[in-house]
Amino acid sequence: MPGAPKPQNEAERLASLRSYKILDTMVEREYDDVVELASYICHTPINLISLVDEDRQWFKSKKGLEAAETSRDLAFCAHAILTPDKPLIVNDTTKDERFADNALVLGGPEIRFYAGCPLNTPDGNSLGTLCVIDTVPRELSEVQINALQVLSSNIVNLLELRRAEIEKQELLDKLQSSNADLERFAFSASHDLTEPLRVMRNYANFLEVDYSAHLDEEGQRFLGKLSSAAERGFVLVEDLLAYSRVNAEEAQEYFDANQVFETILVDLERLVSESNARISHDRLPQLYGAEVRFSRLLQNLIVNSLKYQPEGQQPVIHVGVEDEGHQYILSIKDNGIGIEKEYAESIFEPFKRLHSQKKYSGTGLGLAMCKKMAESMGGRIWVNSEPGKGSIFYFSIPKAKDVEVAI
Ligand code: ADP
Repeated sequence: MPGAPKPQNEAERLASLRSYKILDTMVEREYDDVVELASYICHTPINLISLVDEDRQWFKSKKGLEAAETSRDLAFCAHAILTPDKPLIVNDTTKDERFADNALVLGGPEIRFYAGCPLNTPDGNSLGTLCVIDTVPRELSEVQINALQVLSSNIVNLLELRRAEIEKQELLDKLQSSNADLERFAFSASHDLTEPLRVMRNYANFLEVDYSAHLDEEGQRFLGKLSSAAERGFVLVEDLLAYSRVNAEEAQEYFDANQVFETILVDLERLVSESNARISHDRLPQLYGAEVRFSRLLQNLIVNSLKYQPEGQQPVIHVGVEDEGHQYILSIKDNGIGIEKEYAESIFEPFKRLHSQKKYSGTGLGLAMCKKMAESMGGRIWVNSEPGKGSIFYFSIPKAKDVEVAI
């Protein structure tokens, strides 16, 4: 007898089989376990998960057979998939005209008994079978047949899970690559814009200082607007550049967070003395990671604590630390204006601002940058706050052995 005819939906069936990306993959324990169980339940020497490809049947898992695949013309399973709604059971192959002259019956492995349960996908395609084979004529009990059917639908579940996992990974890869494209774009756009904006800002300043006396009141007003717009544009582009640079490789090393803190205070000296701020801190730990990144993160949060204050109030800020065993939690507590609960997450998105430029100036990139920096060090960032009662910003930093840098 020639091989089994092809199912009517063969093209669709093959497309479905390919979509699982399972053909020619390595041995996997989950599938071998099912085959082991089938052999245990049916007491059969040969047990297979066979997937019927265009011209061959390929075995995802096999027990009692050496071959990795056989020609589709010889495949019993190619017959089994023609009747997807029931198992194909051949008690004595020598008495069945479809198989009596099959090479696998006449020669090795001398199949006499075959039972195959189709592997039916949710979209109605039969990919192959879970089959059990013996070299002597046999029968299976109803319980054994039912068990085989349960196992075959478990195999389909495994395939579905695998496909979902692959699709998720592919989506993630796409997302990562489009994020990387966007970052490259943001970097080169902001990089190229920095210079002309710097020139604009500088000339606007010169004009204001040296020439404003030659202008009438309206001219001076226009110049003032031009100058502050150029300044804002320059600061925005600088922030964008810094934001798109956060993921650049930076050396990982041990550093003393107390020293970083002291350096930040020196940098912020003017801001601190102008506002008469009181800044205290717990004894900070030795940390592992990119020191520059940590320093920028902490400085951004302290600057915000100094900035988002009711007018005329003395800022009181405390930097604390908790040791959680596998990570440190740093906190920056202030007595500032606080934040409505509903904005507790969105303030970490790029360009999210809660106030007008007039009231509190800014680009809305500071906290987005902090989030990126915290995540790139393997941690996360969040805030607890209430309007009028101040805010506590927290970020976590894994200890050295737990660091998994998320670039
Ligand atoms: P920017 O300060 O440039 O506006 P950020 O990303 O640093 O941007 O902050 C986003 C918004 O979060 C700010 O506009 C402000 O409304 C709010 N915010 C940040 N830090 C504080 C803070 N310590 N207290 C109150 N509000 C804050």
